[in-house]
Amino acid sequence: MKYDYLVVGAGLFGATFAYEAKKKGKTCLVIDKRDHIAGNIYTKEQSGINVHVYGAHIFHTSDKEIWNYINQFAEFNNYINSPVAVYKDELYNLPFNMNTFSKMWNIKTPEEAKKVIQDQIQELHITEPKNLEEQALSLVGRDVYEKLIKGYTEKQWGRSCTDLPAFIIKRLPLRFTYDNNYFNDRFQGIPMGGYTQIIEKMLDGIDVKTSEDFFAMRDRAETTGDLTKTTLSDGTEVEYEKILFTGQIDEYYDSKFGPLEYRSVRFETEELEEENYQGNAVVNYTEREVPYTRIIEHKHFEFGKQPTTIISREYSSEWKPGVEPYYPVNNDKNNALYEKYAELAKAEKNVLFGGRLGMYKYFDMDKDLRAALDLCAEELA
Ligand SMILES: Cc1cc2nc3c(=O)[nH]c(=O)nc-3n(C[C@H](O)[C@H](O)[C@H](O)COP(=O)(O)OP(=O)(O)OC[C@H]3O[C@@H](n4cnc5c(N)ncnc54)[C@H](O)[C@@H]3O)c2cc1C
Repeated sequence: MKYDYLVVGAGLFGATFAYEAKKKGKTCLVIDKRDHIAGNIYTKEQSGINVHVYGAHIFHTSDKEIWNYINQFAEFNNYINSPVAVYKDELYNLPFNMNTFSKMWNIKTPEEAKKVIQDQIQELHITEPKNLEEQALSLVGRDVYEKLIKGYTEKQWGRSCTDLPAFIIKRLPLRFTYDNNYFNDRFQGIPMGGYTQIIEKMLDGIDVKTSEDFFAMRDRAETTGDLTKTTLSDGTEVEYEKILFTGQIDEYYDSKFGPLEYRSVRFETEELEEENYQGNAVVNYTEREVPYTRIIEHKHFEFGKQPTTIISREYSSEWKPGVEPYYPVNNDKNNALYEKYAELAKAEKNVLFGGRLGMYKYFDMDKDLRAALDLCAEELA
């Protein structure tokens, strides 16, 4: 088979590109090394519940065009993300808002809350924060920091807040209204029936091969002029002119300048013989002593009424080669390293890079989609 593009990665970025390319009369072969499509937004139905296999995904955006675009592929419900935090035997609303402050200090008005916070900040006399702990204390005072930020952040980074640099936290939004909606965006929701259907619809009528690793294909490839010939793992011969690569950019270049760093997450998922385990989709555990950072109860994303429930405990973990790279660590060192790979990428004639791993950037889905559509506008014009 001969294709215009080999699209590496059947996630949101790769699938959007393939969908738009098909509309322009271009042919794509989409491959993914996983045994399923949809990348990290993959949802899998189990006992009538759509499980967010790679972590909780809530679609939220203020970009109307992106909202309309994604709504072509699924109907969204009116889910609003309102996580709660458990600290020892106390329970607080997130994000930090009047419900949180009222529970913490038994106060009612924004003025009272502001005064408590201001008094706590002033008592500490921090003028130049030396680390993340001092930075957070100087922004929100002792109570909010110790109960809701410290342990959670330490688990996320696997290090003490006094060993983390201050710049990680630039601001900590405090909301002086009784509003538990985590996101400030205009549009928000969960696709009814899960995310995988979105990618299925995008890839409808496009050749897709899962359990297919690009690097093995590349090892078998022969490039003559603009055309690359290779074989799939089942021996099928394929030819393509260009590649869109949405895997790790450093891996594409055999990590020749050194590997980029990521943070990973590990999930422990189980089905429980009860209808409602925690009463909310997302519950954060903010004490360091509790080893997981959050528990997700999947059915609540779609207001499920099934007789059983499925929960996932999320553990933040170190990344090493072979482990799923979830979050790019965009510090100065890694950003400088990425720039070196990006220089090589820019010089490529027949290879495009995209997505959260190809561009080494934490992208929410709306930003990932926007980046994909921007690339389409440039490439497929
Ligand atoms: C834990 C977590 C929670 C998140 N929650 C939210 C949220 O609530 N809201 C939100 O908007 N966004 C959220 N996101 C971000 C969202 O997951 C991304 O925006 C989106 O998945 C990016 O899609 P992508 O196609 O760029 O990358 P991916 O989904 O990672 O797709 C890349 C694909 O490339 C494949 N691939 C890589 N290398 C190769 C290779 N060598 N050969 C073949 N295939 C390869 C991978 O298997 C993968 O399927 C979250 C991210 C994480 C990690």
